[in-house]
Amino acid sequence: GGTIGILGGGQLGRMLTLAGRNMGYRFVTLEPGPDSPCGQVADRQIEASYDDVEAARELAKVSDVITYEFENVDAAVTKLLTQEAYVPQGSSLLYTTQHRLREKRAIEAAGVRVAPYAEITSVQELHEAAARFGMPCVLKTATGGYDGKGQWVIRSADEVPAAFEELSRAGTDLVLEQFIRFEHEISVIAARSPRGEVKAFPAAENIHIDNILHLSIVPARIDKRIQDEAERLAIRIAESMEAVGLIAVEMFLTEDGELFVNELAPRPHNSGHYTMEACHTSQFEQHIRAICNLPLGYAGLLTPVVMVNVLGEHVEPLLKWIGQDESGAEASGVTAKLHLYGKHEAKIKRKMGHVNLLTEDYDLALKWIEKSGIWNS
Ligand code: ATP
Ligand code: MG
Ligand code: MG
Repeated sequence: GGTIGILGGGQLGRMLTLAGRNMGYRFVTLEPGPDSPCGQVADRQIEASYDDVEAARELAKVSDVITYEFENVDAAVTKLLTQEAYVPQGSSLLYTTQHRLREKRAIEAAGVRVAPYAEITSVQELHEAAARFGMPCVLKTATGGYDGKGQWVIRSADEVPAAFEELSRAGTDLVLEQFIRFEHEISVIAARSPRGEVKAFPAAENIHIDNILHLSIVPARIDKRIQDEAERLAIRIAESMEAVGLIAVEMFLTEDGELFVNELAPRPHNSGHYTMEACHTSQFEQHIRAICNLPLGYAGLLTPVVMVNVLGEHVEPLLKWIGQDESGAEASGVTAKLHLYGKHEAKIKRKMGHVNLLTEDYDLALKWIEKSGIWNS
């Protein structure tokens, strides 16, 4: 038992809470938005901004263990929490993954490859690095980016000044990456506990639309040898960084079978939602087990699965489709497990939920998606 405090009130906190309640824990979330996805299912929500030090102190007081569900936790709050509460994940992994350059150096220190990159501090440097890497290349802000925000794919030298000016406006460091012509994007989520036990979930094959995750397919449609290699890389990173809790590792796989790490997330990850019904242990239960220093659960797969994300524009047609007989398992060969996050406004592109499609044959799941007509744009 005991109380787990969560910094952040979004869907990741919600699903952590739902998993942890089954294990007998109580939950308090710190989140500014009223009636948040996590607050709806937690025992209590402290309604305050994430950088409110007094609110963080209150969270520390009522929690036996503290975790977070997003990366951009304020440094002052992190410091206070690590001093006044038990934060098994510590602050150093967070510090590393908050900044792309620090993150890349840490990945390299683990002996794992990233795309060639350069720190950029002037237009001149950007011209030089772009010439070195070739076109296209990707300029990224070092901090604060998500869903492809804070990025510019530079396709010719003409774009260099505009790209530099635009991204400089964010006021953070910049990093240029070589563009990797990947065959597949995959991710592996690993968990590590304070006692040093490590387990990786099966690699997911990820398909994005407009830089937002659309599908995760598991097992990934790649060589078993490469799946195993990807899982080993994630474990190596978790161990080298002495991660506690979950760490998600996004990777590119090239035609030649080479893996490059794109980025890390020290928390549950959208591409791990498939684990909720398709694995012996979900990523959320695994995270709770890890931060509470319990033995980790078996991370093996129970069934092939396709996870499809539900954005604001998909909610209405989805509810209609789910209500029709042809979407049912008997008719389609696919068991659809629906997850909605309790968000009130179905804004376009906003993550509202996901569906895990359990199936013996993922072509059936892909057909289910196509037949629904919901994601055909
Ligand atoms: P997330 O929402 O996953 O945190 P993000 O904004 O941090 O996204 P990245 O994951 O760095 O962004 O990039 C978004 C997508 O852009 C990647 O999933 C990939 O499809 C593409 N991309 C990013 N960097 C590269 C690269 N160096 N080469 C090729 N494609 C890339
Ligand atoms: Mg990211
Ligand atoms: Mg990413």
